[in-house]
Formats: sequence, structure tokens, C-alpha cells
Amino acid sequence: MKYKNTIVTVLTLALFLSCATNPLTGNKTLAFVSNSQIFPSAFAQYDKFLSENNIVNGTSDSEMIQRVGQRIAVAAERWLNANGHEGYLKDYQWEYNLVNDKTVNAWCMPGGKIVFYTGILPIAQNETGVAAIMGHEVAHALANHGQQRMSAAYLQQGLGVVGNIAIKDEQTRNIFNQSYGVGSNVLGMLPFSRSHETQSDKFGLTLMAIAGYNPDEAAELWKRMKANSGGQAPPEFLSTHPSNDTRISNLQEWSPAAKAEAKKFGTNSFRPLGAF
Ligand SMILES: [Zn+2]
Repeated sequence: MKYKNTIVTVLTLALFLSCATNPLTGNKTLAFVSNSQIFPSAFAQYDKFLSENNIVNGTSDSEMIQRVGQRIAVAAERWLNANGHEGYLKDYQWEYNLVNDKTVNAWCMPGGKIVFYTGILPIAQNETGVAAIMGHEVAHALANHGQQRMSAAYLQQGLGVVGNIAIKDEQTRNIFNQSYGVGSNVLGMLPFSRSHETQSDKFGLTLMAIAGYNPDEAAELWKRMKANSGGQAPPEFLSTHPSNDTRISNLQEWSPAAKAEAKKFGTNSFRPLGAF
């Protein structure tokens, strides 16, 4: 009996260690690898990416990316603190960089490492459009979508079955590299699932609204994305799942709730769109 209890305890512990709580939904998610294991890989890959790409510094555009990123990060922290997740961001190291590259893309690695490509700016069209993209990317990071994607990769390789205790740092690096691509090849990162995209669209609206950016602009941004994509297979931000039309109607439907949520944080009016 005592032996049985021990087994149950060990199994429960293993399961507990293999899960994390998604603060955006309150649901348990797969986490065969912990953020403390993932973040160092993410930070190293991010630095490698920056060293191999043409970073824009000291321009009004690069300063705008920094400004929007900081405001969205502050909004995230305020929302997390108000919802019982104090300390959630303690290992995050926010960074927002603009890369001179005509690719239409933006992404956020685990731990808050963000890149915008200059190619996405004409579609963002204004600072509020940038905030919509930033909110979406930050939502992916907060919800640990990368961690879940990596955990799924572990499962596929049969590495996750004993919980995260046995996973070596080297394995983490390998899985990270497979999940995110290596160095300048970040465009090769695996797509997020449809549910992850939907979750990030929805929470991204809340983040931009709390930060003082009108969430109505997100649907307008996606109309421009749709017009631009011309039916081509898209990178992460332009993921075809859900379809552009579903995305646009969802964003329109959710915008009033995002505004109501922002009111709780004292945001009663929004900035001008902020053309650039
Ligand atoms: Zn996404």
C-alpha cells in the first residue's frame, strides 16, 4: 500500500512537472521542457540572429518599435499582476529589434525576444498597426506556445515520457533549433496551431487596448495583410490558420470586449493611429 502510494506520488509529480499553466486561459498545457531550460536557448539564438542580420538603429521607425514593444510589455505585466500572475515575467528579457529585410514578418521567441522586419511596416501602416502585431506576438510568448510546440516535438521523439527531469540541456537545444530554425533561418520555424493563433489574436487585442492603442485597427491591419498576401504561403505572422476572413470577423467581434477590459486599467480613450 505504501509502495503504491509512492508510485502515485511519483507519477503525479512527473505529470505536474510536465505541465504549466497558461495564464491567458488558466488551462494546463504541455511543458516537458521548462522555461528555465528554453529561455537560454532562445536568448542565444536571438543574439545569433541579431549578429547575422542588419539591425536598424536610431531611426524613427526603430524607436517606434521600441516604444510600442515597451508599452505592450507594460500592459502585459499589468494584466498578469491584476489576474493573480505576479512574478510571471521574472525570467523574461524583453527586447524589440527592427531588421532591415523586405520580408513581411515579425516574431517573438520565448522569453520576450521580438523581431520586426522592415517589410511588414508598410502593411502595419501606422503605430497602431504595429501595436496589433506586437500584441499578437507577445501573446504567443506569454502563453508559452513555443514551449508547447517544443513539448510536442519531445513527445514525437519519445523524450518526454519521464517528465522534464531527465531532459538534458543539449536535447533542449536540439529541439529548440528544430522548432525555431537556426540563426538567420528563423523563417523556417514551425507554424503555430490554429488554436494558438486564435488565442494570440484575441489576447493581442486586449494587450494593445490596455497599452492605449485602438483595437479596432487590428481588423483593418488584417484586411491589408489579406490584400498583400496574394494567396502566397505565409510566414508565421501571416499564418493561413485561421483564414484571413475568419480572422478579420473574429477581431471585429472581439474588439468591444478588449476595450471594456482596457477600461478596467484606466484606458478610456485611444491614441491617434500614429502614421509614419
Ligand atoms: Zn501568430
